[in-house]
Amino acid sequence: SGSFVAVGLGMMLGAHITARARSEIEHADIVFALVSDAIVECWVQEMRADVRSLQPFYAEGKRRTQSYREMIEAMLAEVRAGHRVCGVFYGHPGVFAQVPHHAIAQARSEGFNAEMHAGISAEDCLYADMAIDPGTYGCQHYEASQLMFYHRRLDPSAYLILWQIGVAGDRSVSRFGTGPAHRRLLIELLVDEGYPLDHEVIVYEAATLPIAEPRMERVPLSALVDADLRIQSTLVVPPARPMARNEAMLEKLARLESSLD
Ligand code: SAH
Repeated sequence: SGSFVAVGLGMMLGAHITARARSEIEHADIVFALVSDAIVECWVQEMRADVRSLQPFYAEGKRRTQSYREMIEAMLAEVRAGHRVCGVFYGHPGVFAQVPHHAIAQARSEGFNAEMHAGISAEDCLYADMAIDPGTYGCQHYEASQLMFYHRRLDPSAYLILWQIGVAGDRSVSRFGTGPAHRRLLIELLVDEGYPLDHEVIVYEAATLPIAEPRMERVPLSALVDADLRIQSTLVVPPARPMARNEAMLEKLARLESSLD
């Protein structure tokens, strides 16, 4: 009977794919791919000449949510027809990626076997390239638009990573990029949350080809207005203030420990 598996290719062409992902791609009846660019798609085609691209479901002006529904439907139709279906995505298939999660949930709700296998995400590359350990000060991750649409609690003593910064504030969910006016509002929000205008932030882009270098462009928060932000850019906001000791808790812990002696 039909089944669905979501796998990731990692970020760098040929360098990050796991043995598990490769095996799933090779053994599936039907392979669908939603990857970062045409070169990566060609590379998947070397593994499977019959790979079906999900890219044509995207279109400028079309709501991404609609494209996602159609992609999921295309894959599920083959699962229902009794095929072993593999969805191939760049990075980690479960990190800031709705299609794989929803496809798995849908397949399971219809009684089919469905699984996801971890891959190397942009986040993983970011920690390595920027020499950041998320455990040092803690690390908050938000989708940039979601951070603008909802009240969230930011902690300026932790790292802040903003995904999809290139389309920050796009209420239509159909643009391929937003501009200075949207970004000014995001900067305003961050200033209100305690980040100074001259705070240094980093526009990060992991290398996707072995010959390329990652992009790590340091700019003051205020200069983000005119920064070259693309669909593959992630914004890194380092801590803006030191962590504040929780004296009350430390006091309770001290009392607890002395009572245990
Ligand atoms: N599943 C992917 C992320 C998909 S969401 C993963 O595991 O990484 C798309 C967002 O991911 C982009 O808007 C950007 O914030 C981030 N991203 C994609 N490619 C990137 C790259 N080369 N470098 C840094 N961030 C990237």
